[in-house]
Amino acid sequence: MFNLILFGPPGSGKGTQSEKLIEKFGLIHLSTGDLLRKEIANQTQLGLEAKSFMDKGQLVPDEVVIGMIGSALDANPAAKGFLFDGFPRTTAQAEALDTLLTGKGSEISLVLALEVGEEELVARLLNRGKTSSRSDDRDENVIRQRLEEYRKKTAIVADHYAKFNKVSKVKGEGSIDEIFGSLAAEIDKKRA
Ligand code: AMP
Repeated sequence: MFNLILFGPPGSGKGTQSEKLIEKFGLIHLSTGDLLRKEIANQTQLGLEAKSFMDKGQLVPDEVVIGMIGSALDANPAAKGFLFDGFPRTTAQAEALDTLLTGKGSEISLVLALEVGEEELVARLLNRGKTSSRSDDRDENVIRQRLEEYRKKTAIVADHYAKFNKVSKVKGEGSIDEIFGSLAAEIDKKRA
């Protein structure tokens, strides 16, 4: 299996690039943000609980997202590989993911870390908020809180994988196709 983490702050283009990467490389897309929004749309208990955190720009508790990812892995036994988008966001989530994958005789192959400046991130998210149905993109305070969560809890997840030499940094500014080209080149290098 080829398991990829597309890493980076909110607004760095993970969702956009994930769509293109899964198509090119035949991976299954696992976005915890998308899974949580589906739970909210279906008005499940999990969705209701998660919404209160998401509306404030805070991370949802680890056990909730780890449980969702565990179920999604089990639901796709024949996968060639997974693309994790927006997960893991804490060191505890990264360790849990490693354990889940080890249990399946697999591991993370590569972490691609998108790098985008903070003011560019805020501008992109506010812009997305104009057209998307996401309320967390419409309020600058919530956006700044999400970036703060990223700095405090998520940025260190890259260090966890850097210890195993699995992280490649990619410039996340430029055209969608340029950035996609850089990401695909890193994957090809790793798979060669
Ligand atoms: P995203 O769509 O990845 O920007 O996620 C939207 C919101 O969902 C985040 O601001 C968090 O509240 C929540 N969320 C998504 N993924 C995770 C995760 N791995 N851990 C904790 N909270 C998450």
